[in-house]
Amino acid sequence: MIRVEGVTKVYDGGAVALRDVSLDIPKGQFVFLVGASGSGKSTLIRLMLREEEVTRGTIWVAGKDITKLPRWRIPDLRRSVGTVFQDFKLLPNKTVAENIAFALEVLGHPRAVVRSQVAQVIDLVGLSGKEDRYPRQLSGGEQQRVSVARAFVNRPPILLADEPTGNLDPKTSVGIMKLLDRINRTGTTILMATHDHAIVDAMRRRVIALEDGRVSQDIIGGRYEDTMVQPKTQLADAPIEPVEEGADPFEGATEA
Ligand code: ADP
Ligand code: MG
Repeated sequence: MIRVEGVTKVYDGGAVALRDVSLDIPKGQFVFLVGASGSGKSTLIRLMLREEEVTRGTIWVAGKDITKLPRWRIPDLRRSVGTVFQDFKLLPNKTVAENIAFALEVLGHPRAVVRSQVAQVIDLVGLSGKEDRYPRQLSGGEQQRVSVARAFVNRPPILLADEPTGNLDPKTSVGIMKLLDRINRTGTTILMATHDHAIVDAMRRRVIALEDGRVSQDIIGGRYEDTMVQPKTQLADAPIEPVEEGADPFEGATEA
């Protein structure tokens, strides 16, 4: 679903953010991208969205080589990739429902379709009854639920999340992770950059670690600490364990 091959990114001015990065993320996988601040996580996500261009290498997203995508096709790419960021990026003058609907309206869907899709996804993220509030009238966790709803409302095959729990307390973060876990179980491929050890350890999914712009570890069902031990292992080709139906990695955890 996502394939990165020999990607190097050198920013104008000479900062080398990624060095010969290769990875392969099959459809339906949930992958954590971990690493110290400055290791290149956000750069990799921005390259996948064509917010930046690679210096060398190739990136395929949903079957297309996006490094060769003409500029006018970039909106197509962004429609097939939902995004969630640390700072929510909600429109302050639109309500919860309007923020979510906006993503569908720009696609030209009929009003009735938009209304029913928006209602469904508001229910999914647990914000029923709050659809007419403005972002400033919501807690941080609720705002992040809105941005998850907006990312998912047109059912993209891929969701990229850059430190989505970075501004949230641990309890609220668990709620957001439960949501992302549910979305992943619908078959959506998820790549999430984070340096939240507790979350990575609770989820036990694939963990790819970046160190100074290089992939230093790639572990199936890993914990954060595993990415920091030697020797380096490459398990990208190991079989993916099927997720047990109904299993909940946060069972027993309290939610804000
Ligand atoms: P992370 O998300 O893991 O903290 P980033 O991808 O943001 O890492 O940054 C990787 C490296 O690239 C850092 O050295 C950072 O300073 C540099 N960098 C990031 N964005 C830019 C930019 N727009 N211009 C120049 N250098 C950048
Ligand atoms: Mg970052």
